[in-house]
Amino acid sequence: MTDTYDYDLFVIGAGSGGVRASRIASGHGAKVAIAEEYRVGGTCVIRGCVPKKLLVYGSHFAEELQDAAHYGWTVEGMRFDWNTLRDTVLRDVDRLNAAYTQTLESNRVEHFLERATITGPNSVRLAGGREITAKVILVAVGAWPVKPEFPGMEHCITSNEVFHLPELPRRIVIQGAGYIALEFAGIFNALGCEVTVVNRSDQILRGYDESLRDRLLQITMARGIVYRFNCPIQSVEKQANGSLKVSIGKADPIEADAVLIATGRKPKTEGLGLENAGITLGAKGEIPVDAYNRTACPSIYAVGDVTDRVQLTPVAIREGHAFADTVFGNNPRTVDYTCIPSAVFSQPPLAGVGLTEGQARNAYGNVKVYTSDFRPMKNVFAGRMERGLYKLVVDANTDRVLGVHLIGPEAPEILQAAAIAVKAGLTKADFDATVALHPSMAEELVLMR
Ligand code: NDP
Repeated sequence: MTDTYDYDLFVIGAGSGGVRASRIASGHGAKVAIAEEYRVGGTCVIRGCVPKKLLVYGSHFAEELQDAAHYGWTVEGMRFDWNTLRDTVLRDVDRLNAAYTQTLESNRVEHFLERATITGPNSVRLAGGREITAKVILVAVGAWPVKPEFPGMEHCITSNEVFHLPELPRRIVIQGAGYIALEFAGIFNALGCEVTVVNRSDQILRGYDESLRDRLLQITMARGIVYRFNCPIQSVEKQANGSLKVSIGKADPIEADAVLIATGRKPKTEGLGLENAGITLGAKGEIPVDAYNRTACPSIYAVGDVTDRVQLTPVAIREGHAFADTVFGNNPRTVDYTCIPSAVFSQPPLAGVGLTEGQARNAYGNVKVYTSDFRPMKNVFAGRMERGLYKLVVDANTDRVLGVHLIGPEAPEILQAAAIAVKAGLTKADFDATVALHPSMAEELVLMR
């Protein structure tokens, strides 16, 4: 325990990265405090991955119930109630908020439910006015939705508000074609809303393998999602009848009951006082750090979305853990950013790890691509025409599998295991040598010839 400072470590932001860092540092013997201006758990738990996944589960029942008839089930009087789903999800968020708070307490991390700002290299001020000193400060405040500027933006919502909608919108316009846009397009489409996705470019899910993106576009269009490409929103006007008129350039305006903006997230560094410690922000407002998460100020570190490296929860957690081991555990560690698996919980979901076909061709030139384009058994039985698509990208010279890309039911669950093989540098021959697990969708991974 330090004599000179109030704490060995003061963490700003009790999200995934901040909570992990504080409890590990405390385990290494540091005296730790954490400040959080909203709720303990951060974006992932409070207004991101977790409640989103629950909405995906909730909305997916529409498909399951429809298919149930093919399996002999009669479901009478089928109805959906948004308020029940919303409130159950929000109750689960309350439970997790309490669980995360309990984690801090059981790890002897003092927590302040107040905003903290940096006043110097070793000092912070809480919103209530209390001044605190710390040997090390960790900034883990995450990111915040970007709101493009257009007249009527005040009538729109972001992923922060979407979990609290007072009622299910009959018609929703979603701006953007990234993770959040396509996940919520899937949720609202499954729940029976009219969904229009408008995007400034003609591409969805930039960064994912092109074949999968094409497949998702085809399937979601067939499911009734309307896309308007090269058409960013120009204005949103509230009509006398309460509906929203969304103008999107040359195309006809769209009438909607809600407009969700999902155009990326930027580091939440505004008003944090970083300049008081001599830290200059990067072009996107991010905090520049070295491989050990250290900023230009030697006593201040940053992890997670606020550094704008990879905006994914498991990455922030790893960064927070590595920081705590490095600074308080006498075990300097950096995070390995190669082969990070990721998924989009669209309907159907898609997932990928390693290089896409395009990236592999640029990097290696000579690549072999294996695909399996199949109709999952459960779709065949239920009369669904939707097909899954699995793809292996292989270095033709070494036979090493450089990337695995999947779209279809349960793709994220299947990909996590395949990611181990890619991370381990296994070859296509290793995949081929593995006996298929039959009948499953995952067996396609070892049957591609
Ligand atoms: P994304 O970066 O995924 O997508 C942003 C979308 O908005 C793109 O279609 C982009 O178009 C468009 N866009 C960007 N800026 C503007 C602008 N100024 N005006 C109009 N359109 C614009 O962001 P999201 O908000 O969907 O998600 C934020 C981050 O959160 C993700 O990057 C991801 O890291 C994380 N996340 C992860 C999830 C998961 O792991 N399943 C789920 C949800 C979020 P263009 O392609 O033309 O640039």
